[in-house]
Amino acid sequence: MKIILDETHDPKAQSWVESANAPNSDFPLQNLPFGVFRRRHAATHPSVGVAIGDHVLDLAALQTEKLFSDEITQQAAEACASSSLNALMSLGTASRQALRRRLHSILRDNATTAAREAVSRHLISQSDVEMLLPAAVGDYSDFYASIFHATNVGKLFRPDNPLLPNYKHIPIGYHGRASSLVATGTKIRRPSGQTRADDAPPKFGPTKSLDYELEVGFFVSAPNNLGEAIPIADAAGHLFGICLVNDWSARDIQAWEYQPLGPFLAKSFATTLSPWVVTMEALAPFRVPAFARPEGDPAPLPYLLDDTDQQHGGLDLSLEVSLLSAKMRDNNLPPAILGQSNFRDMYWTMSQMLTHHASNGCNLRPGDLLASGTVSGADKTARGCLLELTERGKYPVTLPTGEQRKFLEDSDEVILRGFCERPGFRRIGLGSCQGQILPANPNP
Ligand code: CA
Repeated sequence: MKIILDETHDPKAQSWVESANAPNSDFPLQNLPFGVFRRRHAATHPSVGVAIGDHVLDLAALQTEKLFSDEITQQAAEACASSSLNALMSLGTASRQALRRRLHSILRDNATTAAREAVSRHLISQSDVEMLLPAAVGDYSDFYASIFHATNVGKLFRPDNPLLPNYKHIPIGYHGRASSLVATGTKIRRPSGQTRADDAPPKFGPTKSLDYELEVGFFVSAPNNLGEAIPIADAAGHLFGICLVNDWSARDIQAWEYQPLGPFLAKSFATTLSPWVVTMEALAPFRVPAFARPEGDPAPLPYLLDDTDQQHGGLDLSLEVSLLSAKMRDNNLPPAILGQSNFRDMYWTMSQMLTHHASNGCNLRPGDLLASGTVSGADKTARGCLLELTERGKYPVTLPTGEQRKFLEDSDEVILRGFCERPGFRRIGLGSCQGQILPANPNP
């Protein structure tokens, strides 16, 4: 993995799209995340776009302007004439970097008048578009890479032995459900399922312990062939970029069903993604060393150990989850922050998770989604789900209205946010990942 810093990271570069220069914008010229959108109030197909300030640049439509002269940029631009990012993802790193550099130059304030005029014709206000899922996700796998989350959750079930013996050796994960991945803003129906309270007979009905999980997702770019592993030193070349993931979870269903094969219906009813995929290039200035394992912890096995990954495989990404209840909404209150954590605290790096996933020869395909697992930190304020925060409902949280929450109520809205910040560089953001709870189906 090479960390490449170039003119696209220059903190002084400004865009002629004025809103991109606002200091609090998630989408300055240095970010340029890709997504898929559809114009509201117009019968148009979904299109690939790039976010700049509060606008979207329609990359499919931009094709007609002949702004991409060299072959490699042209190839990437052509891959954007699609209703998903899969084709662009499949091209791998070099084309994506070339497209990023070209987009940066035509959106920068010193762009030629001709480029500016051409681009202006395909800029749309973000308020005029609906964001869709960024990729057609073939497979979705979810990891469990925060040792703080694993320990906090483990303690609730096994107070004396919170971490199972495999945790520090294997990036633990399970195979999630791709069909129920939804774009931000999609309402989430409270699921029904089978539960069992203490020693009572099992029952079927709406979950009473609906939870969110604050996670980071990363998309696969270049594929590996079935039967061929991805060496850890090559893993970064198979990553496209990241988004926010809310892995909605029904804890009572989970508690009853999870042994011996792991999560199933407690997770598969919905998983929400933020729509903009921030590329590995945009994240380059914010890479940090892998999590420092406490003394006495085992070193990763050699297939998961790479010097460069140890030096730069972490990511300093601030994350936040907040909640807005119906009562707070009625009183015009802002969402209340329930947890703030950082992705640099993950026990395993993205490359380690990807390499482990492919280590048995499992083929990963462009657009496949891997998620990190709940991102929690050492501190109590850094807990990424209600199960941890309320210790399974024992210590409810109090909202600004005085309402209490052990788990989510109907009409609650959960909002995830993430951003990278570092002195000497422009702050970039991931946008938001939102979902509101609908009451359970009365006739499940
Ligand atoms: Ca999860």
